[in-house]
Amino acid sequence: MASLEWTLTRAEALDESDVLAAVRERFFVPEGIVYLDGNSLGALPRSVPEALKSVVERDWGVGIVRSWEEWMGLPRSVGDKIAELIGAHEGEVIALDTTTIALSKLIGAALKLRPGRSVVLTAENNFPTDLYAISAVAALFERIEVRHVAPEDIGRSIDDSVAAMCLTHVDFRTGAMLDMAGLTSSAHEAGALAIWDLCHSAGALSLNCGRDRVDMAVGCSYKYLNGGPGAPAFVYVRHELQELLQNPLPGWMGHEAPFEFASSYRPALGIGRLMTSTPPVLGLVALDAALDAFEGVSMQDVREKSIGLSEMFIEAVFERVGMEFELASPRDPAMRGSQVSLSHPRSYEIVQALIARGVIADFRPPEICRFGFAPLYLSYAEVFLAAETVALVMDGREYET
Ligand SMILES: *Cc1c(COP(=O)(O)O)cnc(C)c1O
Repeated sequence: MASLEWTLTRAEALDESDVLAAVRERFFVPEGIVYLDGNSLGALPRSVPEALKSVVERDWGVGIVRSWEEWMGLPRSVGDKIAELIGAHEGEVIALDTTTIALSKLIGAALKLRPGRSVVLTAENNFPTDLYAISAVAALFERIEVRHVAPEDIGRSIDDSVAAMCLTHVDFRTGAMLDMAGLTSSAHEAGALAIWDLCHSAGALSLNCGRDRVDMAVGCSYKYLNGGPGAPAFVYVRHELQELLQNPLPGWMGHEAPFEFASSYRPALGIGRLMTSTPPVLGLVALDAALDAFEGVSMQDVREKSIGLSEMFIEAVFERVGMEFELASPRDPAMRGSQVSLSHPRSYEIVQALIARGVIADFRPPEICRFGFAPLYLSYAEVFLAAETVALVMDGREYET
């Protein structure tokens, strides 16, 4: 297969047999561009504008305060929709806060569950906001240090001083994917808790938090879940841990009975205890509608198409202008998320030239061109055209002007 050259006809043949082809109709995909930045901000699902109009005009406009009865259940019902996409059970996921805040809460809660242990283990290349949150929360505890290790050293760095291992599943720069099941199991053997950031995984990969015995996880919902700019994050906590968990940032909405207005705090049963504040209703309604784009979609099919798109892109680019780039992503798709990163000293200018030609990718310092593949709304033909555009930009040395 790799010896056969990629052509538009060959890409179009894959679209013909693509079981997800019809799902694109559920999205508003602007004409004239190829959108390879769904890993930064997902495209707009067609169901969202109507849902927002209705919540604003009818529920807010007419229902006003009476609408809270409907709205109050949103964090959990949206959470349950996300649970299906990450292999979690009902009642294990809730939508709230933002990734950084939710992660900070989980780290604090995890440290309280492992008194006597002194280390939070993370990867040195973790996403900056995760690193900031880990350091800041660790600093609130006495005698907790953060151990930063290279991704290949994580497994051997887990010992019985580790309270929590806090990792991002798919690296935002390279797309390299960590072994969630294997590392979680190593953490458990050492008695540590495993917290995973699924920002670049949820909605693009076939995840199974339950089978992998993941303890806690967070993720944002504006990337492959298409919830829109600033959409609420999601939090997952395995059922068995929920009743043990103390929310380090308690608020009235995480109280067992918020409208009792009791002076002392009693945590809600289950995942709801992770709530702090009044839910962001407009964002939740948009996310709720956006998640309907996944209805009837198998995450296995999503993963297979993601691999198909990214393999074709790598092969087509390297057939044409392979000498120009270094592949910054793992070559083996089993070790890669849903993105391909190419490194080049002029990456910033290359991305600008691609955007000028309608291929929306992004640049990450120091020298990475990042291409994200959202299988729900991208076609093979488009991704093939993106690869051809990369070749045009390189052949014409457009990054020099
Ligand atoms: C996108 C992303 C975030 C975003 O954090 P917010 O608090 O939602 O802004 C966090 N972590 C990772 C790994 C991400 O990719």
